Amino acid sequence: MRKIVRLVARTGCRTHILHVSSGLSVDVLRRAKAEGLPVSAETCPHYLTLDCDHIPDNATAVKCCPPIRDLHEQDALWAGLADGTLDGVVTDHSPASADMKAGTLATAWGGVSSLQVGFRAVLTGAMRRGLSLADVVRWMSCNTARLVGLDDRGDITPVLRADLAIIRPYERFVVDATALESRNPICACDGMTLNGVVTRTFVAGRDALSGVREGNLIVRP
Ligand SMILES: [Zn+2]
Repeated sequence: MRKIVRLVARTGCRTHILHVSSGLSVDVLRRAKAEGLPVSAETCPHYLTLDCDHIPDNATAVKCCPPIRDLHEQDALWAGLADGTLDGVVTDHSPASADMKAGTLATAWGGVSSLQVGFRAVLTGAMRRGLSLADVVRWMSCNTARLVGLDDRGDITPVLRADLAIIRPYERFVVDATALESRNPICACDGMTLNGVVTRTFVAGRDALSGVREGNLIVRP
């Protein structure tokens, strides 16, 4: 990370760091941002919610790159999000079949599948730390849209595209990988109790299940 930041300082090249998993990287990025360097960075739900001392041995469902680190590193990631050093949380959703995830940690496919529950895993961790739903929305929607130039979304406001989920943040549920929509019933969050039950989802103003467009949810043609 230090090498990359040195190169950014030398070249002025706009740089995005993906999958930050360690506190050391957060420290380097914090200093880089304080110096005004054009860097942005993200971490992922699995680095914020899992830790290497509490996952079962040989749990290939959580094999990913970089690997899951300990609670000390996890705390540093949350601090980095809270103070804006880390701009966002991205899913890094990487589904794989049971065949690909079979074997040992050394041989199994590296990648975590958690698209359907990642937002709620982060929400659960945030609420436990006294952070809010609004913080999670900023990391996983507003900042992400801004970062990649999707200027027609990323906020709830007239003229923007209405991609919305209506959730009950205090209602809890247990993740059952076999009940998720994913074709492969493997999930890094399997068995976790999470906050956030989704009651309705809108894609560009249309109810994702019924396809019915709600009156004023989308203004932009
Ligand atoms: Zn990745």
